[in-house]
Amino acid sequence: MRIARFSIDGNVAFGAIEGEKQDELVLDIIKGIPFADFELSGTKVPVGKVRLLPPVLPNKVVAFGRNYAEHAKELGNEVPQAPFAFFKPSTSVIGPGDEIQYPSFSEEVHHEAELAVVIGRMCREVPRERVKDVIFGYTCANDITARDVQKREKQWARAKGFDTSCPLGPWVETDLDPGDLTIQLTVNGQQRQLGRTSEMVHSIEDLIVNISEAMTLLPGDVILTGTPAGVGPLNVGDEVAVTIEGIGTLTNKVVKRG
Ligand code: ZN
Repeated sequence: MRIARFSIDGNVAFGAIEGEKQDELVLDIIKGIPFADFELSGTKVPVGKVRLLPPVLPNKVVAFGRNYAEHAKELGNEVPQAPFAFFKPSTSVIGPGDEIQYPSFSEEVHHEAELAVVIGRMCREVPRERVKDVIFGYTCANDITARDVQKREKQWARAKGFDTSCPLGPWVETDLDPGDLTIQLTVNGQQRQLGRTSEMVHSIEDLIVNISEAMTLLPGDVILTGTPAGVGPLNVGDEVAVTIEGIGTLTNKVVKRG
């Protein structure tokens, strides 16, 4: 099931998406929140009539670095023996169609297409065999990075945590085997990144075991699983799109911060 969060007439709700053709998609409004057992209301609205929001409002976004060997190599880094994580704050999250605001303190902002895992239940110290039970679903993410700032500052809070640096969406797909999906990114229609989730160094199980050893994960938290090779610069005016097989396309435009 594809679950979107959206606003219509000032109200925010979740809905299940029906249909296949982009311009014929309809939302069946969900009663309550989708993290527990929920019912569909049967009240339907066309997706074209609503504004899609980030599909979840995470308490935290945990991102893993250098999880595709070819990407680690292109930036001159070793593949880490163990997964290593950093945070993107909740204030960095934007939704499909929202604007990425180019930060004033960087001159080299990069795109990073990533598969995002959405957590469905509160959990800690998740054993490998239970990982699938704590996953709600999957969405597309763009781990927008001020590469120049990342190189000169030891902690990446500013480089990877600035406002609008975490586009998520367009919705969460709950029925998906994430093991071997095509992940691709275009800028103004030109392909920049292409990889498969099967190329991850550390699996989704590894990543969730690793981070949940340290901290409690909450429903709606998001885990970014690393980016394949092909990262590169974004400029003001660019339209950047992340497409993951079985999920959909997350498109955002880059603007100057006003
Ligand atoms: Zn990343």
